[in-house]
Amino acid sequence: MQGKFELTQLPDAAGHFGPYGGVFVPETLMPAITELRLEYEAARHDPAFQAELQGLLRDYCGRPTPLYFAERWTEKLGGPRIYFKREDLLHTGAHKINNAVGQILLAKRMGKKRIIAETGAGQHGVATATVAARFGCECVIYMGKVDMERQALNVARMQFLGAEVIPVTAGQATLKEAINEAMRDWVTNVRTTHYLLGTAYGPHPYPMMVRDFHRVIGEEARRQILEIEQRLPAALVACVGGGSNAIGLFYAFLRDPGVRMIGVEAGGRGIRPGDHAARFQGGRLGVLQGTKTYLLANEDGQIELTHSVSAGLDYAAVGPEHSYLRDAGRVEYAFATDDEVLATFHDLARTEGILPALESTHALALVRARAKEWTNDQVVIVNLSGRGDKDVHQIAEHGRSHDLL
Ligand SMILES: *Cc1c(COP(=O)(O)O)cnc(C)c1O
Repeated sequence: MQGKFELTQLPDAAGHFGPYGGVFVPETLMPAITELRLEYEAARHDPAFQAELQGLLRDYCGRPTPLYFAERWTEKLGGPRIYFKREDLLHTGAHKINNAVGQILLAKRMGKKRIIAETGAGQHGVATATVAARFGCECVIYMGKVDMERQALNVARMQFLGAEVIPVTAGQATLKEAINEAMRDWVTNVRTTHYLLGTAYGPHPYPMMVRDFHRVIGEEARRQILEIEQRLPAALVACVGGGSNAIGLFYAFLRDPGVRMIGVEAGGRGIRPGDHAARFQGGRLGVLQGTKTYLLANEDGQIELTHSVSAGLDYAAVGPEHSYLRDAGRVEYAFATDDEVLATFHDLARTEGILPALESTHALALVRARAKEWTNDQVVIVNLSGRGDKDVHQIAEHGRSHDLL
């Protein structure tokens, strides 16, 4: 594929992935953004920083995570040999901690002792509260009121960890509004405060930096599959909210033309305005919360309402690198609906003894629906980005045996 080589050299110095990305922030934030960019540049080449990061990833977070052969599910679906990258086994229960430990070390280097973050499903809030406690920082988490209700367990965890969780009631009271509040706080408290953004989104350098902190997922998976199967996978599949777990898995394989990559967005109740969060299904180019990318908006540019059974995928825009990879034809983007996701959750629970996060279950649902597209000797790796403990109340509300097919 033409342009394949440059894929791994992006973004450019101004944070552009082709026509996407960049820095769209109020002037008051520019000094903080610049400070962060320079600090990250220095840190990534600093052996002491890297050593501390690697130590935390290993001993505090639990890396490397296993690459697990899902033998019974493979047999049941009758398609490819399916492996799970077990990010659900990490400390705090999802991939989010990879980025949180990286950014808390940067905050320490910058002398910032107050940490703020937004959270949707609460997983990023928990990861942030965790590293803030570990490094003795004050921590404030902004969370939509609707999300606080559907993710009560994670709210309690954040509070136990010493974080203040501030409910956001504006608009849809979900992730987008929580990000607005976090940005507002940052503008006000920028000298003392680091904004620990939770996905591969926002103004440069966040999309690049968050990607880099998650690249370890794909680097490990590539090594592991070569060791187990002596070959590369036919495909990688990951769910896409902002896009951090997906780019984390994909990145190390971008130069392998034989490896197909599929990002799975939230199809919600179906692809109609207001009923889903699949930005590549009817989305358009726009600017939201610091970056230029695909987003769900009407013809006047007003952001559309979104819906997903999974709070972590319920966001109107997608990280700019994914917009680029889609245009370049390197990654395919599909979606799974709420119903497919719930059915897949119960299926996996009973076949493999794993309760996956509803976000991750979108990736599993795609493989379940399309298993026959692969032959029995091909290998597919699914990113199991998190565990489903946080989702059990919500799933139970939909019925305990939604679909036992
Ligand atoms: C937050 C979250 C996601 C979605 O975020 P990305 O940045 O797209 O990875 C996916 N899975 C889990 C388990 C999450 O907690």
